[in-house]
Amino acid sequence: MRRKLGKKGIDFMTVEKVVLVCPRGFCAGVKRAIEVVEDCIKLFGKPVYVKHEIVHNKKVVEDLEKKGAITIEDIEEVPDNSVVVFSAHGSPPEHYEIAKRKNLKLIDATCPLVTKVHLEVKNFAEKGFKIIYVCHKNHIEAQGVMGELKQGIYPVENKEDVEKLDFDNTEKLVYLTQTTLSVDEAKQTIKAIKEKFPEILDPPKQDICYATTNRQGAIKELVKKVDLVLVVGSETSSNSKRLVETAKAQGKKAFLIDGVEDLKEKWFEDIKSVGVSAGASSPEKIVQEIADYFEKKGATKEELIILEEKMGFVEPFELTKMKKGKSI
Ligand code: SF4
Repeated sequence: MRRKLGKKGIDFMTVEKVVLVCPRGFCAGVKRAIEVVEDCIKLFGKPVYVKHEIVHNKKVVEDLEKKGAITIEDIEEVPDNSVVVFSAHGSPPEHYEIAKRKNLKLIDATCPLVTKVHLEVKNFAEKGFKIIYVCHKNHIEAQGVMGELKQGIYPVENKEDVEKLDFDNTEKLVYLTQTTLSVDEAKQTIKAIKEKFPEILDPPKQDICYATTNRQGAIKELVKKVDLVLVVGSETSSNSKRLVETAKAQGKKAFLIDGVEDLKEKWFEDIKSVGVSAGASSPEKIVQEIADYFEKKGATKEELIILEEKMGFVEPFELTKMKKGKSI
């Protein structure tokens, strides 16, 4: 442990190593959503309205607002005939209807993996299934998905919610999940669902997305190599908060930070190695600023590569058409 005298007195920084885990940060859905807003500002000029934070990261939203985006929560706030981008988290069908009524130019940046869950909900409902939806009920993604049906979808957050469900044994049941849940917690809830309703159908494909799954897997490896974990992400970011919980569940101290300004030196007393990850909506620039902070204090920087992601999504078709000079 090194204790140095800093200009302002004793400097308790003992960190010798900062380890950046890969994969971290932007996923394919977030990259696509940010590019959609930037492209719309270039194509249509300012302002471009964005319904809900385009992705759940304070710094990304502030950066796009400086470029000409205006974030609103209620679609009714958008002036008629304007350009609006729907955020990556997905939207209920009524928002598309309102956009049509207001003659908005709508570019939909909903992540294709969220759209997949919306489609599963509609398909299963059409086939007469009741849907148990494992989610955080107040999350914007969950509200969009539940908005697909007036009835027949039952949100559950945990085993206690599952216990309250009651279906007769003639019902056709399927469970689906939000894309950004804790893989381990969801497993517990799904286990409770299957114990109570053994005939229930699994989703056609796992709904917790690749980015959430990979980042949680990587952080489990990271905690084996460091004394403390920092996760770059905003309070509103479900997948970032799940990364902090995953690290804590492995017995490590872990903190969620928006940026270097949130670091508190008291966290690092007697800490020799700090691991850094970032939620799927957190920019790499912030991760590097955090690494710089420790390097300037004498720590070395390492990368821990668990796996490299190659996923990418094409831009929304309506934007492609616009770029080719056609109307949408
Ligand atoms: S976290 Fe997953 S579901 Fe959400 S935008 Fe990224 S890839 Fe899509």
